[in-house]
Amino acid sequence: MHLKSRSKPYIIPEYSLTGDLLSFLTCNLQYRYQNKGTLPPSMPIQLWFGEFIHGVMEEAYLKWEEEKLEFPWQWDKDIRPIEEMIDQRLRSRGLFPPSKQYCPEHFPEEKIGVYEFGDNPYARIASARAERSINVWGPYLFPLIDSSEIRLKGIRDMPNYDKKHSRSNHYSVNGVIDVLSSFKINNSTQRTIDSYQNTIVQYLQKDKSFREVLKNKIDNEYEVIIDYKGMRRPSTDSETYKQHEWQILTYSWLREQQKDAKPIAAGIVFYLNELVPSIIDLKLIKEDIVNGKTDVEISKKDKESLLEWDGNENYYPTLSDKFRLDRSIRIIPIQKDKIEGSLKEFDSVVNQIESSLIKEQEGIKIGDAWKAEAEQRTCDACDFKTICQKNKGNIENFTVP
Ligand code: SF4
Repeated sequence: MHLKSRSKPYIIPEYSLTGDLLSFLTCNLQYRYQNKGTLPPSMPIQLWFGEFIHGVMEEAYLKWEEEKLEFPWQWDKDIRPIEEMIDQRLRSRGLFPPSKQYCPEHFPEEKIGVYEFGDNPYARIASARAERSINVWGPYLFPLIDSSEIRLKGIRDMPNYDKKHSRSNHYSVNGVIDVLSSFKINNSTQRTIDSYQNTIVQYLQKDKSFREVLKNKIDNEYEVIIDYKGMRRPSTDSETYKQHEWQILTYSWLREQQKDAKPIAAGIVFYLNELVPSIIDLKLIKEDIVNGKTDVEISKKDKESLLEWDGNENYYPTLSDKFRLDRSIRIIPIQKDKIEGSLKEFDSVVNQIESSLIKEQEGIKIGDAWKAEAEQRTCDACDFKTICQKNKGNIENFTVP
């Protein structure tokens, strides 16, 4: 009797924008080693703060919802326990805080109320940013939240599908929306956008391109996708700046596939480091202003203060609260044609990843199947530089990150 062999399982490759595509674009080979080789990076400082601030904001929202605690929150009493909980959670995943940014010691209860926040020896820059994020944006953001940590999934055709070589005829796009909010517009019932005395809604109303998008919409209730970034606002000519728009547009396409979705009018990205910029951030902000690579207006006073500053690390230029707020919020209106563009881009990067995978499956060496190309600072912090062809024999040139 002839026994049929079992057919191959039908597996749809899964791709997430942040975990796969952006990481692949940073360096193809590093992505291969980190993601397909399941090796976590050993120096994830940026990753640590990003995960930390997401966790802190999520837990702060849950606390606010349960206790309806009035703002401003006291750092040592209300915020520090959240930070410690998130730190423990991250440690269990192998993510340890950089000690210059975060004090890992337990804050003793008997010290509550003893120090001023600015003089508190337990509070470093990560805590200062967490405190500002909660107390500056929390009062306006938390009441607008409908749901948080929304997992999304969508299916797309595999680009350049070829029955013999491709892994599947489809691929899955995955993503997680940090926060989803919905507003009613032109309607006098609760949650009417016009009647909000809410700074975030005011930023939306002031945004010209958002108002343009609304003109073409006929519904009266819309969703807004919100994403936190544990970083400074990127320069307008940078890849990161474009990628954040790409992320919001992709998420809006994914969200539209869900049954309970309302039309999506905008995305908001919060660059939370802008609330407490470091010396390096200030130098980069100054550079962006000098080179015209910013989309945020600056007042004459702030500009003078920043341009007169010589980079001296013992002295911080004074910047207005308005400027810091303006830099920490970015509105991205959702336009249909732009969504199409971002999905095509998604397909194109998936195609590149799949092509490298196919090459490797066909026996081509990893170093030849995946391109080793990255910015110098990425190579400086890369765990694989000793085995990377690009940097072979060049190790002594690396700076310590
Ligand atoms: S050293 Fe640079 S080029 Fe080589 S894998 Fe790492 S990031 Fe990529």
